[in-house]
Amino acid sequence: MDFTFSDDQRLFKDSVLGFAAKTLAKDALARAHAGTFPWDVARLMAKNGLLGITIAEKDGGQGGTLMDAVIAIEAIASVCPRSADVVQFGSFGPIRVLAEFGTAEQKARILKPLLAGQALIAVAMTEPDAGSAVTELKTTATADGEGYRINGSKIFTSHGPEAQWFLAYVRFGKGVDGIGSVLIERTARGFSAGKQTPFMSGDSWMPLFFDDIYVGPENVLLREGGFKKQIAGFNVERIGNAARSLGLGQFAFDAAKAHALTRKQFGRTLADFQGIQWKFADMKMQLDAARLLLYRAATNADRGFPDAAETAVAKAYCNRAGFEVTSEALQVLGGAGYSTDSLVEYCFRRTRGWLIAGGSAEIMKNRIAETVFERRFSQRPAKADKD
Ligand SMILES: Cc1cc2nc3c(=O)[nH]c(=O)nc-3n(C[C@H](O)[C@H](O)[C@H](O)COP(=O)(O)OP(=O)(O)OC[C@H]3O[C@@H](n4cnc5c(N)ncnc54)[C@H](O)[C@@H]3O)c2cc1C
Repeated sequence: MDFTFSDDQRLFKDSVLGFAAKTLAKDALARAHAGTFPWDVARLMAKNGLLGITIAEKDGGQGGTLMDAVIAIEAIASVCPRSADVVQFGSFGPIRVLAEFGTAEQKARILKPLLAGQALIAVAMTEPDAGSAVTELKTTATADGEGYRINGSKIFTSHGPEAQWFLAYVRFGKGVDGIGSVLIERTARGFSAGKQTPFMSGDSWMPLFFDDIYVGPENVLLREGGFKKQIAGFNVERIGNAARSLGLGQFAFDAAKAHALTRKQFGRTLADFQGIQWKFADMKMQLDAARLLLYRAATNADRGFPDAAETAVAKAYCNRAGFEVTSEALQVLGGAGYSTDSLVEYCFRRTRGWLIAGGSAEIMKNRIAETVFERRFSQRPAKADKD
């Protein structure tokens, strides 16, 4: 067992840090408050090999490992927290599911502009009546000639206002086995979006409506029976979600440490007070533990999909550590941390969302408990006894 980076990993981390310091540091605060996807960063990252890190070279990616992409997220987040979302988009989210399960034709047509930072793909699974219980989704795919008609609606889709493509979870038939996914273009006839509403983090979502959209066979990704594959792919997204929680927590920690070393009250620096030192000891323990759990899940996955149980532990722990550390770091910064000209304030708001998104903390704990007791715990009420 080795707890240190290889030479290649160290070199990669240093080069990403160098890229971030040179190109992303200056506008980091403005980017955090812009509320829109940073397209300029996406194009810069495309040019510098930071999109498609986990995607095979034959598909236009970098052919790296999941751990490489985690290293990139941490390095970028340490300079520009908002830009870590671009690494997420380029390596962990629906782009990876498309690269894994798409046909050669789909990849040539859709993946290329995504990897060039010219287009976005979003994952649309949550519905008004299907949040944590995602398998209760109602959006239907009904056969029509060679293709399907899609009817339904989605909510809370990240990048919803900006995405050109939606990887939408749909129902081809009844039950979990009836679920699969299709690729819907924003320009498709029958697509519309409702009122744009900001999340607490500042980026927005809008309800998406699919009104009898025709999806040809060329835009079907996974037919019925595809749900398990989709969730296996979604575990990659969860690793990116965990990495950003950790990265933003570390950013806040570093900012608070610098403040504690310089800010003087009662004639001493904050770092001289034991009450403050213990906060840092607690924060460090949380970040170290989160990092180890995340690295275990990412390293064991190598170039494949991560183990579901290790991912659940990593995500639940990193989400909590990220949020609690940013909260304590903000406390150390006092009024300066609560002010919107502090990026720690942004990190606090941003990390809060990850306790809910992508499988909430509670749903991850349900999954972990199943590993502990080696049995499945149905969350549904027992079927009523028949007379
Ligand atoms: C920042 C952000 C980004 C998001 N991005 C996307 C996206 O890109 N695409 C997309 O499709 N969706 C997205 N979502 C939606 C997200 O996946 C859902 O919000 C999440 O699955 C929870 O569903 P819900 O909000 O309906 O809450 P509910 O499912 O109604 O849950 C409410 C609360 O009850 C808890 N709960 C529910 N069931 C159980 C249980 N069995 N045991 C214990 N506790 C339980 C939950 O953990 C939660 O705390 C995003 C959400 C957020 C906040």
